[in-house]
Amino acid sequence: MLKGSCKRARCHRILSVVGALVLAQLGASVLASPQGLGQIDSVQSEWRVHGGTPAEQRHSQLTHIDRGNVSRLGPAWHFEFDNARGLEATPLVVNGVLYTTGAWSHVYAFDAKTGGLLWHHDPKVPGATAFKACCDVVNRGPAYHNGQIFVGTLDGRLLALSALTGELNWSTVTVDQSLPYTVTGAPRVVNGQVVIGNGGAENGVRGYVSAYSVDTGELTWRFYTVPTQSAKGPDGAVSDSMLESMRATWQGDFDQLGGGGTVWDAIVHDAELGQILIGVGNGSPWDHKLRSEGVGDNLFLSSVVALDDQTGAYRWHYQGTPGDTWDFTQTQPIILADLRIDGELKKVMMQVPKNGFFYVIDRTDGSLISAEAIVPINWATGVDKDTGRPIEVAGARYEDAPFVGSPGGIGAHNWHPMAYSPDTGLVYVPTQIAFFVYQSFSRFVVSEGAPNWGVDYLANSLPSESDADLKAIADTLSGSLVAWNPVTQTEAWRVDHAGPWNGGVLSTAGGLVFQGLATGEFFAYDSSSGRRLWSFDTHIGIMAAPITYMLDGVQYVAVMAGYGGGYGVSTPFAQDPHPRPNGRLIVFAIDGDSEYVVERKSFGPMVKVTTEWPVAMVETGRVIYERSCSLCHGPIGRSSGVMPDLRRSSLLKSEDAWRTVVYEGLLEERGMIGFSQWLSVEEVESVRAYVAGLAARAITRSTDE
Ligand code: CA
Repeated sequence: MLKGSCKRARCHRILSVVGALVLAQLGASVLASPQGLGQIDSVQSEWRVHGGTPAEQRHSQLTHIDRGNVSRLGPAWHFEFDNARGLEATPLVVNGVLYTTGAWSHVYAFDAKTGGLLWHHDPKVPGATAFKACCDVVNRGPAYHNGQIFVGTLDGRLLALSALTGELNWSTVTVDQSLPYTVTGAPRVVNGQVVIGNGGAENGVRGYVSAYSVDTGELTWRFYTVPTQSAKGPDGAVSDSMLESMRATWQGDFDQLGGGGTVWDAIVHDAELGQILIGVGNGSPWDHKLRSEGVGDNLFLSSVVALDDQTGAYRWHYQGTPGDTWDFTQTQPIILADLRIDGELKKVMMQVPKNGFFYVIDRTDGSLISAEAIVPINWATGVDKDTGRPIEVAGARYEDAPFVGSPGGIGAHNWHPMAYSPDTGLVYVPTQIAFFVYQSFSRFVVSEGAPNWGVDYLANSLPSESDADLKAIADTLSGSLVAWNPVTQTEAWRVDHAGPWNGGVLSTAGGLVFQGLATGEFFAYDSSSGRRLWSFDTHIGIMAAPITYMLDGVQYVAVMAGYGGGYGVSTPFAQDPHPRPNGRLIVFAIDGDSEYVVERKSFGPMVKVTTEWPVAMVETGRVIYERSCSLCHGPIGRSSGVMPDLRRSSLLKSEDAWRTVVYEGLLEERGMIGFSQWLSVEEVESVRAYVAGLAARAITRSTDE
């Protein structure tokens, strides 16, 4: 095999040539046969759309890998990416080719059987875009339609690439690139249109979803999920008909920061009912008091909205968290199903938004069928079955005092896909428990140089640098794979993991459920009992959901391994901090025995700085660091290993070197912009003073031991 035996650049060229040949053959056979490459078979044996099937159940009919032989699963091939940033993509397999996306919106095509790289497309996302992204430079995957691959890039473009060669057919800018919009979600193809959303509600944008012609990239319709002030008039968009009813649920200068409501993940096509269901995100800013004077439901924040699948016109909505003030997005994956409830076959959608409730909603009209908390939560005691509204706990809105909320902003369930098996009738949900201290910003001013949550992140800075105290906090965090019966709204079984932020789920007709963990372990469970049947240590944290496909009589299971994302970069608890290895795409088969080795890297030593700074300056540095820098580099200087641990950075030794990077932006290409627009030279130096102090105390602690 070429990979592993040749240097990367040369390898890439050789494989590209080989790839073009293989693809030319595949393409030719597709054209030669009226049914394509066994189209009817391939619909069942491949993974052609984001959620496996249009209903996005992430359940495969394949049975070659089953409870009896899964213990023999081993790596058939893998591909190592050239960086260690987070990987969240669900790959596609179409006509024998595996398509996936990596960090910085790169797109890759592989021979799904051998792992040979067929092509690679670098959309050249400017490094400074990373600063706009709340949650790492991730991408959750491509869409395929009729010989084209569609990908949303971090800087807001929608690309149509040739599936054969990776060459660009067309590109459309889907956002105002002067604003902090990003795109990380997978587009979906619906009736000859590519439907795509965006993100950015942490920084200040107005959410919407757009549809573009698959052939030309021309905009066909757009639906804004939140209103503008009435003085600004209608948008000339399909959402205009809803503007007045949306505005009636907002108050004050609500569109100062765009209002939020970004559609950054779930977009599901319900072809049966001719509608698209979109999941809408949190408000911007988070704090309802700052956003809307604490008044109103703020439609369509934290809702599912059903739109006509031809025109984008509004049909119905269900709002799980009216007047959201906790970052409780309802963008989480949506699964469509038909369930027999009280003897009646119901067309439902199922979803577990961040707020912790498992919702079963009638997708013919958006009415609530049932909702129960899937993990212990403390912001609400339940959902009122008549009104569909949560029964909130007094104080949860932190009007007068901080509220330690569970779930917090990372949610009881985040973007990590869940799966539904019609065989067992169970939904397998990657859940988590992690609190967050909600505290209003007493003097909130809109900032371009920091997140605009309206909630003071400083309240979440760690109280102590001692390992014992950190462990005590880590012990309050947990994650579980929960098998949930959506008809009875009860738990069938659960497997508890060491911490939160574990991978998405795949279910198969072989009676298996697959899930990777933040620790890097990859597991197969019996889908009926939760009994662990197989594991493999990838040595790389896994967040993404696995897929499965069948080629030439062999069933494969593929997963993207690469740790990061919002929680992954901002918290040091997942494992012993060490520099993360590069991400990989790993593909397994029965008796797979390809070589798999990951070298563990170590952090360099703490840097000793002899300069002494005034105490007030160190305190200034602490506030700046913990409010802004810690979201990537980790609280109290402890990196999770995705981004550099600044206490060990040689830049720390020199005021000039530090300023060149932190103030002037020397490393902008890698995503570290300079902060000269927002911070003074003295403030940048104060951050160095704070980090140097953290390093000095870490050195003292290690000599004390
Ligand atoms: Ca958010």
